[in-house]
Amino acid sequence: MERQRAAKPHFVLIPFTGTISHVIPMADLGCLLASHGAEVTIITTPVNAAIVQSRVDRAHPVSQSHGAAAITVTAVPFPAADAGLPEGCERMDLLRSQDEVPRFFVANRGFGEAVARYCLGVGEAPRRRPSCIISGMCQTWVLGLARELGVPYYVFHGFGAFALLCIEYLYKHRPHEAVASADELFDVPALPPFRLRLSRRQLPPHFLPATSVGGNALQGIRDFDVAADGFVVNTFEELESGSAALLAEATGKKVIAVGSVSLCRSPSLDPQPMSSDARRCMAWLDAKEPTSVVYVSFGSVGRMPPAQLMQLGMALVSCSSPVLWLVKGADSLPDDVKEWLRENTDADGVAGSKCLVVRGWAPQVAILAHPAVGGFMTHCGWGSTLEAVAAGVPMATWPFFAEQFINEQLIVDVLGIGVSVGVTKPTENVLTASNTAGGSEAEAEVGMEQVKKALDMLMDQGPKGEERRNKAHELKLKAKGALEKGGSSYNNLENLIQSFL
Ligand code: UDP
Repeated sequence: MERQRAAKPHFVLIPFTGTISHVIPMADLGCLLASHGAEVTIITTPVNAAIVQSRVDRAHPVSQSHGAAAITVTAVPFPAADAGLPEGCERMDLLRSQDEVPRFFVANRGFGEAVARYCLGVGEAPRRRPSCIISGMCQTWVLGLARELGVPYYVFHGFGAFALLCIEYLYKHRPHEAVASADELFDVPALPPFRLRLSRRQLPPHFLPATSVGGNALQGIRDFDVAADGFVVNTFEELESGSAALLAEATGKKVIAVGSVSLCRSPSLDPQPMSSDARRCMAWLDAKEPTSVVYVSFGSVGRMPPAQLMQLGMALVSCSSPVLWLVKGADSLPDDVKEWLRENTDADGVAGSKCLVVRGWAPQVAILAHPAVGGFMTHCGWGSTLEAVAAGVPMATWPFFAEQFINEQLIVDVLGIGVSVGVTKPTENVLTASNTAGGSEAEAEVGMEQVKKALDMLMDQGPKGEERRNKAHELKLKAKGALEKGGSSYNNLENLIQSFL
C-alpha cells in the first residue's frame, strides 16, 4: 500500500497569480489530475489559496477508476509591500491603478524566490520532489527552479490551442511588421481553410510595442515557452479543428489537451462565501422562461469606459430578452452612470424585472448551465468561452484585449456558435477603465444600435439562430464526452500521468 502511494507521480502546479481566471482553471486541473490518481500540490499566494482550497473541497472525481489522490494547497507569502503595493494585493484586480502593474511583476519575482525556497526545502526537511511542474505562463522563474530540481515543466497558458497556434505563427512569420498602420488588417493563415485576420492593435500583449510589464518580461515569457517540455492546454481535441496537433507540430513540443477543466465538478453554486449576489442571480433565473435570458459578462477584471457602458446599458434595457448583467468596477463609475443604473436596472433581483445587474462575484458556471440562459455576451476570455461551450450556450462576442480577438474568430467563424458585436479596437486600461476621464460624455466605439443588432441575432429564433444553437449543443456533448472514460481529454490526462510512472 505504502509502496503504491509512493509511486504516484507528483504534480506541482504553480498558477500565475495575477488574475483569478488563471488560478481557477489550474485549481480545476489539479482536481482532474488527482481524480486520475496523481498526487498534486498547488502553490499559490495566501489570498488565492483560499479560493483554490474551496474549489478543491468541492471537486468530485470525474474518474474513480484509479482512486482519487490527495491535493495539497500551499500558500507562500506574496511580497506585495516590498514592491510598494498594499499588503494582500496579490492579484491585478486588487491594484489601485494600472500604473501599479510593473510593481506587481516585481512582487511576482519575489514570490518566485519564496516558492523556490519552499520547493527546495531551504532550512527545512526536504520535500517530495515533483515528477513535473505545471506553471502559469508569467511564472518564468519556474525555469530556474525546474532546472535546479532536475524535473520537467509544462506551461499552462490559460489560452486555447488555436490562439497559441496563431501566436506561434506570429512569432515565426511576423506579418504584423509588414503593415503600415495599427488598424490595417493582415492574414494569420495558421489554420487553413479558416481565414483569420487581425490588426496590430488586436494582437495579444506579446506583440504590442509598449509594454506595461517591463521591457524584458515579454521576451522572458517567450524564452520560458521555448525551454518548456510541453504545454498543457485547457481545451479538448474535438473543439479547435486540430489546432492542438498543429501546435505540437509547429513547436516540436508535447501539447496535452485536458479540458474543459470546469467540468471537473457539477456546476453548483460557489458556496464560499455563498454570496447574496449568487443567491439572487439564481433565484431570478429560476423565474425566467427556458433559454430566454441573455447573460452579459466581460470576465473577472474587464471594465468598460463609462461612455461605452452607457451605450451597452441602453441596448440591454431596451432589448426584448431579459438580461443578467455583471458589472465590474461599478463603485468607481461616475455618479451620472451610477444613477442611470439605479433608475434603469434592478439590483435586488425582483422576480419580474427585465435587467438584473450584479456587482460582485457571479457564479458564472452555474449561470451558464441554468436552463433559462439562452445567450452569452462575452469578452471572449478563454475561460468564459470554454464554459459557454461546455454549457452549450451561443455567444455574442465583444473582445477586450489579450488573445480575445483571436478567440472571437474561433467562436464566430470556425465554430459557428457566435455572432460578432463588431468591436475593432481593444479596451484600454481594462483594470481601471470604469473611472476613465471624460465620463459618460466621451465617445463610445460601439453604439447602442450596434449592440442591439448583435443581441437580436444572438437570440434569433429563425434558422440561423437555430443552427448556432444546434452547433453549440453538439459541442456541449463533445465537451462532456472528452472527459468521460475513454474520451480524448480523459486519455490525455491518463497518458500524462503514465509518462511519469
Ligand atoms: N468569473 C466568475 N464570476 C465572476 C467573474 C468571472 O465565475 O463574477 C469566472 C468565469 O467563470 C471564468 C473566469 O472568472 O472562469 C474568467 O475567465 P476568462 O478567461 O473568461 O476571463 P478573464 O477574467 O481572464 O478576462
